[in-house]
Amino acid sequence: MQAEIIAVGTELLLGEILDTNSQYLAQQLTGLGIDLFFVTHVGDNMGRLSETVQRALNRSDVVIMTGGLGPTEDDLTREAIAAALGETMTVRPELEEVLRGWYGKRNRPMPQMNIKQATLIPSASAIDNPIGTAPGWFVETNGKKIACMPGVPHEMKKMWEEQVAPRLGMGGGGVLVTRTLKTVGIGESNVAEVVQDLIHNPNPTLATYAKQDGVHLRIAAKAETRDAANSMIADFEAKVRALTNHWIYGIDDETLAAAIGKLLVKQGLKVATMESASGGLLGSYFTDTPGASEWYAGGTIAYTAKLKVLAGVPQEIVDTHGTIAGETALAMATAARQQTGADAGLGIVGVAGPSEVEGKSVGTFHIALDFLGQTRVVDSHWSTTRLELKRRAVMDALYILWRALEDREEAATAVAGAGGAGRA
Ligand code: AMP
Ligand code: MG
Repeated sequence: MQAEIIAVGTELLLGEILDTNSQYLAQQLTGLGIDLFFVTHVGDNMGRLSETVQRALNRSDVVIMTGGLGPTEDDLTREAIAAALGETMTVRPELEEVLRGWYGKRNRPMPQMNIKQATLIPSASAIDNPIGTAPGWFVETNGKKIACMPGVPHEMKKMWEEQVAPRLGMGGGGVLVTRTLKTVGIGESNVAEVVQDLIHNPNPTLATYAKQDGVHLRIAAKAETRDAANSMIADFEAKVRALTNHWIYGIDDETLAAAIGKLLVKQGLKVATMESASGGLLGSYFTDTPGASEWYAGGTIAYTAKLKVLAGVPQEIVDTHGTIAGETALAMATAARQQTGADAGLGIVGVAGPSEVEGKSVGTFHIALDFLGQTRVVDSHWSTTRLELKRRAVMDALYILWRALEDREEAATAVAGAGGAGRA
């Protein structure tokens, strides 16, 4: 079954509102295993709207429309469908009664222009709207279906969930289940290269996406039932993991900070932070994770040189290297660790812009880790906005800690494995 969406409203084309309805519907169709091939935005214009409906009926089995069902002259979705099908709209007494009842309950007279919300064409049936005045239309013609829903997002969602999706879902087509494996520390083209033998697999499919929190590997399986799709995903995931496990930190909604938290708890360790240029964003990411107090010992926003020294950074480090230096970031990481008794300390310094600092250019960052006395400093330089620089510095900090914890985990597993073999 092939579907397409038509989102109606001039305000969409003027950029005044975001088409969240289509995003929602696209996600829903994916879940139902219905292929979505086109999404169209069209304004409140009779000619263009009926042309769009006609084209959609020529190439798709299911056309899903939102918007343009209001009472005013610029709400033309019904008229456009009638024109496209060459059918005539008539007022239906049973719909008029419901509409008048809606106003009656609110002690308001029904404006005469609302009467068109009580109309149908021969090939349409009404879709009840319990939370608004505009009923939807469900049109069936020549083996094609058109589902029309209001533009108001909560009315549309309710109508979709309770009435439209069940009608379309009965058409079969199975389900599509997806799982996202999230990687960090490897670029998109490198990931694509590593998994190249799997990337053209027809079902499940595999796709890579470069995201703010690393490269995602999305596995999508289509099957008759959810259970069948899940087991296809499990088999395929094992193949993907065999190639990429070194970089995978989580699946679906898991964050890198949460993955770090899990590893810290498992290893019985805590982390502390001292941030300058990132202004507490790293601490914020950590504390976004429920239960962070188990593994996050806290942090300082040591924005000035004076505060860095007060928080435990040796004065001579700042005097010798300045504040924008790897040495200073590392001294901050170590001080954070020592002041809190944590096992890992992270320090971030940098120039977020727009002006340079101490002769260092905008985008220069130093991110340091002191992990049980083992140290690592990353010197980065990016050209982007202030907020994006802060975010990237935090991602680097999360990455170096996660890598250190993973490496420690792998080493422990290897030792346990070797010990086991020795005893055998
Ligand atoms: P309409 O059904 O065209 O009268 O739209 C009613 C209201 O719903 C509009 O004023 C918008 O605020 C909202 N709306 C319409 N279409 C969309 C859409 N595609 N996505 C999000 N909101 C929408
Ligand atoms: Mg409109």
